[in-house]
Amino acid sequence: MPQRLSTFKKYLKLAGGLLFVPKCPGCGEVMPLSTVTDREGVLCDRCLDKWYQEKLTCCKGCGKSYPQCMCPTDALLEAGCGVLISLVPYDKNARTSRNVVSKLIYEIKDTKNRALTDFLAFELASALEFVIRRLGAANCVVTYAPRSNKAINEKGHDQSYLLAGAFASLLELPFAKCFRRVSRLFGERTQKELDESERILNARRSYSFNPKRAQFVKDKCVILIDDLVTTGASLAACTDLLVKNGAQSIICVTVAASIAEKEEKEK
Ligand SMILES: [Zn+2]
Ligand SMILES: [Zn+2]
Repeated sequence: MPQRLSTFKKYLKLAGGLLFVPKCPGCGEVMPLSTVTDREGVLCDRCLDKWYQEKLTCCKGCGKSYPQCMCPTDALLEAGCGVLISLVPYDKNARTSRNVVSKLIYEIKDTKNRALTDFLAFELASALEFVIRRLGAANCVVTYAPRSNKAINEKGHDQSYLLAGAFASLLELPFAKCFRRVSRLFGERTQKELDESERILNARRSYSFNPKRAQFVKDKCVILIDDLVTTGASLAACTDLLVKNGAQSIICVTVAASIAEKEEKEK
């Protein structure tokens, strides 16, 4: 970016900060204005520490820290995706330190928080940089599991699209929307209100592949982005479609992964 434009953008951000008092999305604390232009400045020091602590959590399946763990969920493995990379564990029931992660996830679902999305995309890109270098950037493309149309209408944005777009531009990888959402099977019930078999069935009928993207994914390693993985049913449905459309391999990448799922793998 030309220097003048980036300086202008910084001023705009600062001016925005004066109009909308910046708050830490992890705890709600009002942030000093000077931090608004830093990438890490999106979180207060305490929440940033907690975020890095969460990243050190070990996967119970392989013993590695979360960003290094590649263990897929059973649903993903069955669909043909052998690698799932998530940055931090997600526990919707935890009340203390893990709360930061769920607050950040809800923040990007509920609001179009650019600074937080950029921070998370940078964190994802850092975790994937090594893998992509080994695979060769020329062989990799990026797509994402889209949010439901109903949620997009309600919230006004698709957090996975924003994350995946920012991630792809950081790593200079081709990025395209490959999936469309189609009507759901179980009426008004949301994915999290369904049991596992219903989730898989629902997810399978929730996505369709855009045939115009067949060339985009053919013989490529497709990096499939989402904000959160629980059972992996949604990502498995997308993986299935990517495999059917000629993708060579699929790496699922999410900000957070449900702890219950990783503990399940131990048994
Ligand atoms: Zn905070
Ligand atoms: Zn693991």
